[in-house]
Amino acid sequence: MMRHGLHSHYVLSACEVAYSAYKNSRAGTTPRVRRAFLKLDNQTYQLNRLLLRIPIAPRRFIFLVLQGAAYQVSYIEDPSLKRGSVTITENTVSLAFTRQTPVFEPTGSMGIDVNERNVTVSGTDGSSSRFIEPGEVADIKVRYREIRAKIASGSRQDNRIAKRLFARYGRREKNRTRQRLHKMTKQIVNHAKENDLGVKMEKLTGIRRLYRRHNGQSASFRGRMNTWMFGEIQRQIEYKSKWEGIPCWFVNPRGTSRNCPDCGSRVAPLPERKLYCAKCDITWDRDVLASRNIMACAVPQARPSRGSYEGERGDDGSNPGADGGKQARRLTAIVKSAEPNSASECQRRK
Ligand SMILES: [Zn+2]
Repeated sequence: MMRHGLHSHYVLSACEVAYSAYKNSRAGTTPRVRRAFLKLDNQTYQLNRLLLRIPIAPRRFIFLVLQGAAYQVSYIEDPSLKRGSVTITENTVSLAFTRQTPVFEPTGSMGIDVNERNVTVSGTDGSSSRFIEPGEVADIKVRYREIRAKIASGSRQDNRIAKRLFARYGRREKNRTRQRLHKMTKQIVNHAKENDLGVKMEKLTGIRRLYRRHNGQSASFRGRMNTWMFGEIQRQIEYKSKWEGIPCWFVNPRGTSRNCPDCGSRVAPLPERKLYCAKCDITWDRDVLASRNIMACAVPQARPSRGSYEGERGDDGSNPGADGGKQARRLTAIVKSAEPNSASECQRRK
C-alpha cells in the first residue's frame, strides 16, 4: 500500500482487519473477508455534519456526502458522544459512537427467555410479557426463501434479472426482519429502564437451541436461522441496555426450565410446552417459567463490598459494573452514503 502512495493509516487498519479475520476463521479454513470495506479510526477521518473527509494519501482526501435521517444526525450532533471508528462499504458508512453512561444500580431484574418463536420476559416488578416477533421473522424468512427458490428456478436463462430480483428481495427481507426485532428489543429495554431493572439473559451455547423441535424445514436451515436470530436478539438487547446504563448479565442456561420458580421443586412436562408443579399445583407455561428462573438467577454483585457473589446455579455472568464508575458504550449508526459516484475527490495543498 505504501508503494501505491496510500496513507500509512491504511496499512495499520488493513493489518487489524486481517488479524481479526484470521482470529475469527475456523481452524483449517482460509480466512475470508466477504465484502470489501474500509475501516478508519477516529484520528484519521473528519466529519462535519454529514460531510465525511477521509484521507487517501498525504494531503489528498475523498469527501463523501452522507445521507442520514434525523435519527442519524441526532447522533452526529450530540456533543456528549465520542466518535469512534468509521467503516465504509460499497454503499454504507457506519460510524461508531461511545458515550459515558453511568451504570445505574437496578432495584430489580428482568429475565429474558429467547425462543424460536417468541421472547418471553418476566420482571421482579411483576410484569410478564411475550413478544411473538421471532415467529413472525421466522415466517418471513421462510417466505423469502421460497421466493428465492422460485426466482432461481424461473430465470435460468437471464442471470441479470435473477440477480436484480435476489438483491431486491434480499433488501426487503432484511429491512422487514431487522426492523421488527429492533422494535421489540427497544420495547424490552425501555421497560427495563423505566422500572429500574437489570437485564438477564441466558448465555447461549448454541447446541441446546439447535436441536429443538423441527417441523418441516430442513434442520440446517432452521439451525442457521435460529442461531442468527438468538444472536441478533441478544446482541440488540445487550447493546441497547448498555447504552442506557442498564446492567446486563448472561447466566448459565442450565436448568432454567427444570424447576418451579415459586417453590424450586422439579416440574413435570405436559404437552404443548406446559410444565406442571405438583407441590404448588400450578401449570406453567414453559417460556414464562424459564424467564422467571432466569430473572431469579444470581449474578455478581455490582459492588464486591456489599456481599459475595453466590453462584448457586453455576452462573458465570460477567459483571458489567465492576468498577462502579462511568463506562464507555458503543453504538453504530448506519448512514447510507449518496450515490457512490457523487464522492468527490479533492486535492488540498497546505
Ligand atoms: Zn412449585
